[in-house]
Amino acid sequence: MRRLTLLPLPLLLLLAPPLLSGQEAPRWRVHDMARPRPAIAPPAASAVPATPPPNAVVLFDGTSLSHWVGADGKPPRWILRKGYFEVRPGAGTLMTVDSFGDMQLHLEWAAPLPAKGAGQDRGNSGVFLMGRYELQVLDSYRNNTYADGQAGALYGQHPPLFNVSRAPGQWQSYDVFFRRPRFDAGGGLLSPARVTVLHNGVPIQNNVELVGPTSWLARLPYVAHPDRLPIGLQDHSFSVRFRNIWVRPLPEGDAPPPPIATRAVPDSGLQGFVGSYGVSWGKAKVTLVDGHLWIDMGEGPMVLNPNAESKFSIEGVDADVGFVRDSAGAVTALTVDVGGETYRYPRQR
Ligand code: MG
Repeated sequence: MRRLTLLPLPLLLLLAPPLLSGQEAPRWRVHDMARPRPAIAPPAASAVPATPPPNAVVLFDGTSLSHWVGADGKPPRWILRKGYFEVRPGAGTLMTVDSFGDMQLHLEWAAPLPAKGAGQDRGNSGVFLMGRYELQVLDSYRNNTYADGQAGALYGQHPPLFNVSRAPGQWQSYDVFFRRPRFDAGGGLLSPARVTVLHNGVPIQNNVELVGPTSWLARLPYVAHPDRLPIGLQDHSFSVRFRNIWVRPLPEGDAPPPPIATRAVPDSGLQGFVGSYGVSWGKAKVTLVDGHLWIDMGEGPMVLNPNAESKFSIEGVDADVGFVRDSAGAVTALTVDVGGETYRYPRQR
């Protein structure tokens, strides 16, 4: 019997096949003395200071909207008052001039007094992190609405852990700790966005993962975007007020490792569904990416999950999509079943 030669472990590792081939080697060794040290920051008197730290970007100090611009690129049309500013209903979303990725964000807001309306129709606004991930602002003081749409919700995805709402007219604080999503060079998702939020000092979102951009009625998939984007404040036609807004960009650290494996799905068969479909009142574009069919009906691409050979459901939405073939087997149309109705979109190309 052959005798096994025992090699010391480090030598074995050296001789081992490159199991990590295709993955980036870690940039730093363990206990690497050359690795940069975290920047020194002064301690805060409390866990969440309302005053901006020295390395913060002050987005509103009570006197000027110079750090803001309309979503149309024009000067902001919201109302500047003494020490705060206010939504001008109909003026549209307000965006920061600067762009941010990983960040700590502090802002204070107050719902209109007297309160008018109910549910989502009362003191609605929102903080759009990177312009697409909404932390809901709503008058949730004695106001019932769906859990994932109340104040402090990551809209449509994560209800807050507590309702910490103050009465309308009173100032409330949000302290947000945001880690942006990471994408690979091909636009694939490496890691989702993560959010922690304190509302009036109470943790209401505890490092939750966003499944994609927030949206009304829909769960949209991630679409790759730049590492830094402006923050938006929503004009939902309510005179919500804002003050004391600052951002501390956070060090982003090393890039996360690439995914361990990519799910291989054969493309054959699905390619025949790819194309543009439409009628005078609507269009649908079907694409094939990484073995998955996607449909874009004007609201951004959504994944199609297969149910049968030519029948699919839209991920996260109560809607089914079917493809119609002619006698030769060519795809000539797609149908969308939603809300008890069927819509037919002839193939354009
Ligand atoms: Mg909103």
